Amino acid sequence: MSDAETLFEKIIARELPADIVHETDTTLAFRDINPQASTHVLVVPKTRYRDVAELAAADPQLLADVVATAARVAELEGLDDGYRVVFNTGADAGQTVFHVHAHVLGGEQLGFFGR
Ligand code: 5GP
Repeated sequence: MSDAETLFEKIIARELPADIVHETDTTLAFRDINPQASTHVLVVPKTRYRDVAELAAADPQLLADVVATAARVAELEGLDDGYRVVFNTGADAGQTVFHVHAHVLGGEQLGFFGR
């Protein structure tokens, strides 16, 4: 993990504003500033890991907390017809913020994705 702080630490510390939709002892969920679906929420662990692989290796319980928060967000947002949870990991996937985050996407029929 690089030492460089990301903007998500500032959101967790309430040093940057965000539209927070849910919080637990270990996670924070807030709306993506550039939504790619009707509902687009990011879920982050309050402890920083670079990506989901690093998180899974270091703290599987915290990864489970992130996924549980994603499911709770889907419930709170009324995504009863389904939703997608995505962890972009590394450059080819387009990861731009190196504090692991789950994208929770839904509220409409989502297209297939890949290329
Ligand atoms: P990544 O591409 O790393 O998987 O996702 C980073 C996400 O963070 C992007 O979807 C981007 O729109 C979102 N993002 C970037 N800056 C901000 C910000 O300042 N506030 C919020 N709420 N989201 C941000």
